[in-house]
Amino acid sequence: MGKSCGECGMCCKLLAIQALDKPAGAWCGHFKRAAGCGVYEDRPPACRGFICLWLDSEKLDEAWRPDRAKFLMYTEKNGRRLNVIVDPSQPTARKREPYYRRLKAMSELAKEGRELVVCIGDRRIVVFPHEDVDLGLVDPEHKLVSGYAERDGMMTPYAMILSDVATS
Ligand code: SF4
Ligand code: SF4
Repeated sequence: MGKSCGECGMCCKLLAIQALDKPAGAWCGHFKRAAGCGVYEDRPPACRGFICLWLDSEKLDEAWRPDRAKFLMYTEKNGRRLNVIVDPSQPTARKREPYYRRLKAMSELAKEGRELVVCIGDRRIVVFPHEDVDLGLVDPEHKLVSGYAERDGMMTPYAMILSDVATS
């Protein structure tokens, strides 16, 4: 049986919705606890089209429902980047179990050129299997790049912001 959002609604808090002038991290004024979206039939396309990874994945159990985990996940860049958007009121949520170990396992895909990026407000942390690269506060308009580069004969993870290149 497919999953349903139930009483979750975390995307209505954590995501910025341009059409509503709603910043990331603030509850949408249309969201009502237990009742959900108050303008469901007329919600903007950005809301209509959003499906978080928990909703879409058979591999993530109920513990990963975003309102329980206190973070939501979605992919972008054709699946090349997995964003983990953490509730700023619970900034260490991803470090709890069963989450932390599994997120680290997911970050193994960095070796194949993918990215796992934790977003806590404007703070960005790129997760690799053996370390996290905390980039601090980042202008979301600037491009984030990460991967592995050879240093002293070893493949070493890196992450950086290209401040003169806009997000593509
Ligand atoms: S975060 Fe996911 S499960 Fe929660 S309301 Fe949004 S789409 Fe549904
Ligand atoms: S319009 Fe509805 S679906 Fe969109 S953010 Fe607001 S409450 Fe959520």
